[in-house]
Parts: sequence; structure tokens; C-alpha cells
Amino acid sequence: KRDAGLDAPAALRDVREAGVIGVGIMGAGIAAAALKRNVPTTIYDADLTAVERVAPTIVSEAAYSKTLRAADPAQAIKLATILRSAHSDSDLARCDFVIEAVVENLDVKKSLLPRVEAHLTPGAILASNTSTLQISKLAEGLARPTDFCGLHFFNPVRRMQLVEVIRGDKTSDQTVATAVAFAKQIGKMPIVVKDGPGFLVNRVLSPYLNEALQLFADGAEIDAIDAAAIRFGMPLGPFQLYDMVGLDTALYAGRTMWEAFPERVLASPVIPALVKAGRLGQKKGVGFYTYP
Ligand code: NAD
Repeated sequence: KRDAGLDAPAALRDVREAGVIGVGIMGAGIAAAALKRNVPTTIYDADLTAVERVAPTIVSEAAYSKTLRAADPAQAIKLATILRSAHSDSDLARCDFVIEAVVENLDVKKSLLPRVEAHLTPGAILASNTSTLQISKLAEGLARPTDFCGLHFFNPVRRMQLVEVIRGDKTSDQTVATAVAFAKQIGKMPIVVKDGPGFLVNRVLSPYLNEALQLFADGAEIDAIDAAAIRFGMPLGPFQLYDMVGLDTALYAGRTMWEAFPERVLASPVIPALVKAGRLGQKKGVGFYTYP
């Protein structure tokens, strides 16, 4: 049986060591998922203090035992030996599958990706965890766009099984097949989707969030909207979700969607105002809601 989206069965590349760039909300979760499946993982962030701060959390999450309801100490010691902290992006040279999870900004990603690619061995795969940016655009400055794809995880990574594998216009079948296999290897459920603003999931999510902002603009209370969404069966309300995603990330992602579909997506002033006020959501303790 072929994986959806592949024209022909493609030989897989070996993934012995993973790399993650950007250890924010998503990068930390992705590194923990890889580590949990015993994949040696190197983490790198422009903020070197973030790497040192987040490494113990990644290990504890990867070593979490349902029975103990805490990290298994023996497993944590074992996994800590295969988590490496990089001090520069050249330390990613040994990795054969590198996932970029830095800020959702086209210019930042487009300047970072070719720099990282230059350190990697030909044949190594570079992937972006972008939520909305087109993979073919991100690939423009790369020397080996065939070895580049989207690998879009969902938040929180430890709970969300779905991963979108995005094929850019130059991505090879082998890269898609290896990304699918890697996602499965680290316990996820991949689907191969076409390249386009917001891919599949955020294309569907965007009008839902948009309508919540419109209801708010019409005078509805945010907690009433969230409560209604939860009664409807959603695990979180739209404003709780915004706070979990991070309002800065939501602003960048929302802009991409608005530019792509201006007739359908609302350019709400609420998200930019919250970002300007430093209310970035759960990660800052305050967004639409305040967190203890
Ligand atoms: P975040 O703000 O929590 O973390 C981003 C990290 O990247 C920070 O630690 C920052 O220091 C680092 N960084 C920024 N620029 C860098 C650079 N040039 N080189 C190296 N490190 C750099 O962001 P996040 O929410 O984890 O989002 C990261 C990516 O994942 C974005 O592309 C975002 O769209 C995508 N994403 C986010 C969510 C979500 O719910 N937050 C879900 C799916 C995908």
C-alpha cells in the first residue's frame, strides 16, 4: 500500500540523528517526541540560554511515564545522553533530518535555511515546521530544494498525533517518503498535503478563528464564545487556543492567511494590539486570559 501523495514507492533515507532549530513551544515538543523514540537529537536556538533552559524539560517530557505520572529517572538519565545542545548552527552538521521551528517570519526563515543547509551532508533532509508559509517559497534560496519539505506538527506536540508533510514544487518523492517514515518513527500520524497558504489544517482553522474574532468585534464576551465552543465539542475555545499558540505566532500566521485570502479573512486589530502590549499568551502568562 502506497502512502497518499506519493507517485511511486521511494527508497527511504536513514535517519540516525535529528536536529531541531528553535526550542520554543514547538521545537521543544518536537525534540521531546524524537527523544522519546530514542532518536539522538541536537537542539539549537539563536538564544543559547534557551537551549540550556529547555533541555531538562525536553528530557523530562521524553522520559514521562504514565505509571509514575512523572519522568522515569532511569529513562531520563539514558535520554539525557542522546540530547545534544548545539552552540552554533554548524553543530547540526551531523544530523540527517533537521526541523526548523523558529519564528513564523518568511525573511527570518529564508535567511536561516540556506545557512543551515550549507552545513548538512548532501542527502540530509531539511524540514520546516511553518504553520502557513509556502514550502516552495521557503525553498527558493536552497541549493538542494529536493531535500526540503514541510513537517508541520500541532500544539501541544506531546498530545497531537497529526503531522502534515508538505510537498513543495521541487521536493523529491524520497524526501516525502522519508519525512512520512520519520513522523511515524517518532509516534505521529502523518498526512501528505499540498503546498499552499495554511496547507490543509490551518486553511480550515483560519475561518473558525476569524469568525470568533468577528463575534468578539460584534460584542460577544471571549469566555462566552470559548464556553460555547467547548459545549459544541471542541477541546479548547478559540481564544484559549490563541493563547496556547502564542499571539505573536498567530499574528504572523494570520497575516499570511489574510494576504492570501483577503476577501475571506478578517484583519482584526485585536491580535496586533495584544502583541504590542506584550500579551503573547500562555508563554508570557497573559494574552486574552491571565495565567497564574
Ligand atoms: P516560539 O516563539 O515559542 O519559539 C521560537 C524560537 O525560535 C525561540 O526560542 C527563538 O529564540 C528561536 N529563534 C528565532 N529566530 C531564530 C533564528 N534565526 N535561529 C534560531 N533560533 C531562532 O515559536 P513557536 O510557537 O514554537 O513556533 C515556531 C514555528 O512553529 C513557527 O513557524 C510557527 O508558525 C510553527 N508552529 C507553531 C504552532 C503553535 O501553536 N505555536 C503550531 C504549529 C506550528
